[in-house]
Amino acid sequence: MNNLKLIGPFKQLIPMTGLPIKGALTDEQLVILEDTGIVIDGEHIKHIGKFHDLKQQFKDIQIQELQGDHTCLPGFVDAHTHICFGGTRANDYAMRNAGKSYLEIAKAGGGIWDTVVQTRKASKAELVKGTIKRANRHLKNGVTTLEVKSGYGLSVDEELKMLYAIKEADEAIPSDLIPTCLAAHMLPKDYEGSAESYLEEISTKLFPLLKEENLANRIDAFIEESAFSASQIKPYFEKAQKMGFDITVHADQFSTSGSKVAVDFEAISADHLEASAVKEIELLAKSDVIATALPGASLGLGCAFTPARRLLDAGGTLAIASDHNPGSAPMGDLLTQAAILGAFEKLSNAEVIAGITYRAAAALNLTDRGTLEAGQLADFNLFHTGNYQEILYNQGNLKPCVVFKRGVKIFDKHH
Ligand SMILES: [Zn+2]
Repeated sequence: MNNLKLIGPFKQLIPMTGLPIKGALTDEQLVILEDTGIVIDGEHIKHIGKFHDLKQQFKDIQIQELQGDHTCLPGFVDAHTHICFGGTRANDYAMRNAGKSYLEIAKAGGGIWDTVVQTRKASKAELVKGTIKRANRHLKNGVTTLEVKSGYGLSVDEELKMLYAIKEADEAIPSDLIPTCLAAHMLPKDYEGSAESYLEEISTKLFPLLKEENLANRIDAFIEESAFSASQIKPYFEKAQKMGFDITVHADQFSTSGSKVAVDFEAISADHLEASAVKEIELLAKSDVIATALPGASLGLGCAFTPARRLLDAGGTLAIASDHNPGSAPMGDLLTQAAILGAFEKLSNAEVIAGITYRAAAALNLTDRGTLEAGQLADFNLFHTGNYQEILYNQGNLKPCVVFKRGVKIFDKHH
């Protein structure tokens, strides 16, 4: 016996290969492989082909033969979350839906600052536990790679606590957690100084530690009237870029200006974009910045969706992420949210699936996942259907019945 494993047959396997990173996609462009199997070698895919041929070709191989019809998709990538946090914001949600304004909620002690206070109160162990619990729920729903931001610490020590917690959670679970430093989430209310001096302090004291301790390769900032202005963020990003960090931006959520900063800095991604209009859409579409829609935030706040259709038609690229966070996006169900965005924005199956697979991987600068082919990580989801269209048609209610992460079967609902 060697270490190879063969799993199949799949009625359909959608490898998401041969598709462009930018622009609109039609379902006719999708490659659909039938009666397929995957040969796994350790953490990677060794071969994809007809199941019965593979069975002949690879002798002495461990075979996991499935009964019934299955469709295989790449493991999902959620490129924007805030799942490391303390407390809850159920009261914010109730107040907002009862018609209270942002200001009234903030005065009642709600908003991002509330989560900062709760997260600072939590021990690192408690943060690790909460992050693991949420990441494992995402994994059950087929999300095998998950970005996780800091940003509820808002001081050098408290941001470090969060990023160590994310690192510990990553080491404890099968999914890959990709950490991002979001110390520029808002100006902390207890900081005695200007926004400029806060950002200066973070970049001087925290950035070198992120490198030394290998805690994050990505720097994010919230560019918004309630957070930081474009001109405040520029020196911060310049410093980050000089040190070799990847840049990503919370852009154009309520007001525009973040997307221009993202394009100017050649950021990996610009996320939110609910307020982006013609000018911003054109700018993004001409660039290589990945536009990341966060339908979970639109659903949580009862706001308009990111103009996904117009971004794609303009030639841009679109990832879709959950923004899972305790305030504006408490649901944290990527497949459901992506399916709903597709219905509202008139996105093809190919565009929605691309947005949570290879285009989402690109939003994290990862090329070893998001497609299914030899050499890629063996991250994939099986659905109990013979027709891939059923997956988005069920709007997230059809969950994966089997999830593989790095060649390991995480669970199997058949057993
Ligand atoms: Zn966010």
